[in-house]
Amino acid sequence: MTHIYHQLPRRHKQLLITVCVITGLLFLLPSEDAKASKISGGEDSLAIATRYEVRMPQQMNDGEVGSAINLAQPTPANTATKLRTTHSKDSLVTVNNDQAIDLEPADKLTWQQVKVKSGDNLALIFSRAGFSATTLHRITSLGKATASLKKIMPGQIIHFGANAKKQLIKLTYQQDFINRLEIVKTDTGYQASQFTAQLETREKMASAVISSNFWNAGIEAGIEASLIMNLANIFGWDIDFALDIRKGDQFNIIYESKFLDGVEVKTGNILAAEFINQGQSYQAIRHTDGEYYSATGRSMRKAFLRTPVKFNYISSNFNPRRKHPVTGKIRAHNGIDYAAKRGTPVMAAGSGTVIASAYSKYNGNYVFIKHGEKYLTKYLHLTKKYVKKGAKVKQGQRIGTVGSTGRVTGAHLHYEFLVNGSHRNPRTVKLPKSQSLAKKQKAAFLSIANNRMAQLATNKRIMLASNE
Ligand SMILES: [Zn+2]
Repeated sequence: MTHIYHQLPRRHKQLLITVCVITGLLFLLPSEDAKASKISGGEDSLAIATRYEVRMPQQMNDGEVGSAINLAQPTPANTATKLRTTHSKDSLVTVNNDQAIDLEPADKLTWQQVKVKSGDNLALIFSRAGFSATTLHRITSLGKATASLKKIMPGQIIHFGANAKKQLIKLTYQQDFINRLEIVKTDTGYQASQFTAQLETREKMASAVISSNFWNAGIEAGIEASLIMNLANIFGWDIDFALDIRKGDQFNIIYESKFLDGVEVKTGNILAAEFINQGQSYQAIRHTDGEYYSATGRSMRKAFLRTPVKFNYISSNFNPRRKHPVTGKIRAHNGIDYAAKRGTPVMAAGSGTVIASAYSKYNGNYVFIKHGEKYLTKYLHLTKKYVKKGAKVKQGQRIGTVGSTGRVTGAHLHYEFLVNGSHRNPRTVKLPKSQSLAKKQKAAFLSIANNRMAQLATNKRIMLASNE
């Protein structure tokens, strides 16, 4: 692994370590979910979870990894000097100014910090801080402007500033490292202001060659967990991160990094990425619509998901000439059996119309979905069915859960993929080409794409050189 161009700032390293530790702990926890996402094959199991997992565990949302965890809580005194807002009741305007507003400059405030505990609510917090329910009511009745106060999380800190008469004059709540709510008492009552710090966006690059698994390679390349997930999601239609990743695979990305006062605080979007899987190179470039396209302008999203369930392992492969284990007779296995825990969600592989949702002795609970004239997908042995015959479904929509209904021995999803009425191997069937960008947008996209491709190529050369 090589991290190109940037030695990480110390703070980022600290964040990363925190993230690694927390991520590690999360995976060590004996959670049912973690088990469900594992695949046989030990070490690779973490990489596997990336297949359809768009969201990370709570702490890792939106790339705000670590930030919520160990960024120092700014004190009201120093945060207040950064920006000034013009106070208006609901809409709040942020302006750059180095002066803090102090509505009672003569009145020296006494500050106290109250840390949010688990199971806490505002009433408890206000009471601990020594303020009345009436004060709280006055603040919450400001409505929308103070709505963020209702989303307090354990570990966060609320600062209370009181005057000599122990009246609440000012409250500050740092929602995250960018957003801060301030409530100030004025002659006409409390007023809320929302402050948003301006982040500077810089572009960074990272590359890695996979030596153990995809997840570790990403961490070693110095990229955040959320970015690793995003990378897997971008290429998830082309590469099965559960089964296809091999030692020697490599990736190479250009991504945004957000800085606050020169300190790297969070990761932004992936702007361009290349993934080389088993010698085959895939590229994706982010367009202004927020979607990813290949270098030639085709959407990275395909009409079908390769696998409609997060499975543990394949218990039976597609085999049109499978011999029955007992009778020795040839009885085709027209689909793939994905072993998964009972209750694991089953998704529609593509958008379409449900043409059957029923029960039979052999199939158990089953759902068939028709995708246009040409394609049909079948999902068997479900515990629950979430869709009815005639319903329109979207790709990725939950249509049921894995079960063992019908003539089966263990919980699994039997999945079939038919093209023009004949069974094809769902693992290898050539899926229809994805949509291309509209002509109007294509020219603009292609010029961006060419630049990005050149950047990626440079990045790769540097990586190769540094590995020699
Ligand atoms: Zn089967």
